[in-house]
Amino acid sequence: MTEPLLRVQGLSMTFSRKSGFFSRVGEELRALNDLSFTINAGETLGIVGESGCGKSTLARCLLRLLTPTAGQIYFAGQDLLALPDETMRRMRQRMQIVLQNPFSSLSPRLNGFQLIAEPLRTHTTMSRKEMMDEVAALLAEVGLPSEFMSRHPHQLSGGQAQRIALARALALNPDFVILDEPTSALDVSVQAQIINLLIRLQKQRALTYLFITHDLGVIQHIGDRIAVMYLGKIVEETSSERIFANPQHPYTQALLSSTPLPDPSRSRQRIILPGTVPSAVDPPSGCSFHPRCAHVMDQCRTLYPAARQTSVGHHVSCHLYENGA
Ligand code: SF4
Repeated sequence: MTEPLLRVQGLSMTFSRKSGFFSRVGEELRALNDLSFTINAGETLGIVGESGCGKSTLARCLLRLLTPTAGQIYFAGQDLLALPDETMRRMRQRMQIVLQNPFSSLSPRLNGFQLIAEPLRTHTTMSRKEMMDEVAALLAEVGLPSEFMSRHPHQLSGGQAQRIALARALALNPDFVILDEPTSALDVSVQAQIINLLIRLQKQRALTYLFITHDLGVIQHIGDRIAVMYLGKIVEETSSERIFANPQHPYTQALLSSTPLPDPSRSRQRIILPGTVPSAVDPPSGCSFHPRCAHVMDQCRTLYPAARQTSVGHHVSCHLYENGA
């Protein structure tokens, strides 16, 4: 069997608050709690959850911008957490990230050429002429003409800025791209264009994506598999088709109920969750979703449900499925 491009095992990240005016000394925030998943080469894994569930902390741990408290991350067969800093710096050329707000990730002082050429200048020995040709080719790949080389971020629309951010992420020819809410700051019509562009680039360049989003609807057309996160844990993981056809965890069912159907004459019965995601500093006991769950049972308040396989390739952490339901 082929080794997945990315394999994450038992990943946990706990932040200790050693000082702080508003927090108690010694408080701990458990942002990620024992996550395990794989992503095969050429595949897209969607990570879905509300704000505060740990999605962006996961992205930063995978790039080793944060050092996880526990667990292992294997990328292309290499144990990332064991790599010397210089080797990890080179490895990051193969692992890129595109953020939600392109205007905060693109320096306002640089023009399109400088923004896209910056990684080439840092990591390659290309001449200026070679860089000009490469930047023009990257712009064409993301659907922008070469005159965008002279434009600064304030002269770009949100969609154009996200295309420049993508061209910059692709400059070093990565295998793996983390897309951290790449369309949430864009208008709905532009969102669809960027998703289509991401699908095309993935096919052309055989890219592997980790697509982070709070909106299940956004991931529907690009995700091969979807992992739903709640308060630092994966509560359900399966193929994109199964998540939409047969969501099993009550949290996934609630997320899906707020996603519009393609046929505007039909609608889903909306499940309104009470309250918000609890604080990871003081998470609820047992199943951390229990204060918001319509199906809560006594055992949910004391015992965290283990992940169970309910059908081939479909894993759910919920006491409702303990007897093979
Ligand atoms: Fe709801 Fe209990 Fe399942 Fe948690 S374990 S999602 S509280 S039914």
